Amino acid sequence: RSADAAFRLAVVGSGPAGFYTAYRVMNRVPNAQVDMYEALPVPFGLVRHGVAPDHPEVKNCQDKFEEIASSPTFRFLGNVAVGSTSKPASPDQCRIELQQLMRNYDSVLLAYGASEDKKLGIPGESTLKGIYSARQFVGWYNGLPDCAGLEPNLDGDEAVVIGQGNVALDVARMLLEDVDVLRKTDITEHALERLAQSKIKRVHVVGRRGPMQAAFTIKEVRELMKLPKVAFHPVNRALLPEDLKSLPRAQKRLMEVVVKGTTTNPSDTPSSWSLDSCLSPKHFLAHAQDATRVAGTEFDITQLESVFDPKSRVKPTGETTILPSDIVFRSVGYKSAALHGFAGAGIQFDERRGVVDNDGLGRVTRLVSDSDTQVVKQQVPGLYCAGWVKLGPTGVIASTMNDAFATGDAIVNDWLGGAAFLQSGEKAEGWDGIRGETGTINADKAIMWDNWRQIDKVEKEKGKLKGKEREKFTSTTQMLSVIS
Ligand code: FAD
Repeated sequence: RSADAAFRLAVVGSGPAGFYTAYRVMNRVPNAQVDMYEALPVPFGLVRHGVAPDHPEVKNCQDKFEEIASSPTFRFLGNVAVGSTSKPASPDQCRIELQQLMRNYDSVLLAYGASEDKKLGIPGESTLKGIYSARQFVGWYNGLPDCAGLEPNLDGDEAVVIGQGNVALDVARMLLEDVDVLRKTDITEHALERLAQSKIKRVHVVGRRGPMQAAFTIKEVRELMKLPKVAFHPVNRALLPEDLKSLPRAQKRLMEVVVKGTTTNPSDTPSSWSLDSCLSPKHFLAHAQDATRVAGTEFDITQLESVFDPKSRVKPTGETTILPSDIVFRSVGYKSAALHGFAGAGIQFDERRGVVDNDGLGRVTRLVSDSDTQVVKQQVPGLYCAGWVKLGPTGVIASTMNDAFATGDAIVNDWLGGAAFLQSGEKAEGWDGIRGETGTINADKAIMWDNWRQIDKVEKEKGKLKGKEREKFTSTTQMLSVIS
């Protein structure tokens, strides 16, 4: 293949993984053309629909994404779901199959993140009202169209959040933060209205293990400790070493924040939160008057096998306890799902970890039996993955960026090194080939970057009237209605 041969890459997903991989490839392959397919009419994935509204500085990466999207060799195709197994977000959504991308591009990058959530698998979880995944709640306050109708019940005094990662702390902070602070952010209007009426006074952030084993990081804990008029109930000090100075620096600083707590005393203020340790959810309890609603959660009380070891496991003590609450959030992780067409494309999906099998550098791999009936890993030519669908749902934007660069380098090295890709000799047609194919549903509904700019402009104008950064559209129909 000649050094200046055109290289057509299809990217599935417009979050950080998709943008940063595209950037790397466009920078290093002389004649690369990237088409980015996004199921929603709006780009940026969890930067728009996950990152908390009171963390606007985190969203600065959008400026870089805008710069990438402005390149003449980049094309955004919004409102196009690829190989989607769920029902269309709207009747106006364009839908295509993975195989269509494989027929019309040299390479396909899977960067579609994690849009499902892990389950606890305990009784009552799927039947009782009032139990939400953190993903739904976060999507609700951030304007994710699927979650716009959530209407969480915030009429009780107490809320229980199961899980002790940063997303759990985001949920707790949104429940406890002064709504006048949130009013200036890009939080959705429906969430603001409901949070303003919220009666929740106490948030329990519950973990199976202790503070030494929790997944949250210092910035998020500090933010909660600094909320005015919100107290923190002291942690069980026996779960931390007597002398915190003996801990590695990062952990020492984190545990010092947890031990120091807040200057506000729980008896001086109605609002408070706590880190409830060594509780493993057992089942949800129904209301005595209304058996369709949750009234509380029963937990097994656990014991750490090695109290101060951050990797310690727990065992049950045989005792249980109940935390009553009308609302429960399970914050035990997001989850990716396989796309329709994976099997036909030879893509293996690890259902347990929720990741596409790959070589660690983003080359999609499959296990095959060779002639000696030995099982070997084989690369699937032209297919790559990056971000949460490659790593599992952990890591921040910076780590996702580094991971995307690694995948980008693998693509560049394979292309420039003459490896096999999806087309052998034929010119890939890209979107121009796909839009005319019979399998393409609603081809005319795909939107371009300039259309997103129109949506962006209207959102910012609506926000300005309310003194906030933007007022997000919460339905795809609304988004599409402002496109000319
Ligand atoms: P995503 O950002 O999820 O992007 C995937 C995209 O693919 C989405 O736009 C989705 O709509 C699209 N898509 C899905 N399926 C299809 C399909 N079939 N066809 C076409 N498109 C599809 N990181 C920080 O650094 N700071 C923070 O404060 C922070 N806060 C967070 C808060 C929450 C609640 C969460 C969940 C994460 C947070 N993160 C934060 C982490 C950060 O958001 C992730 O690391 C990053 O977004 C992962 O990028 P991604 O591209 O892999 O996935």
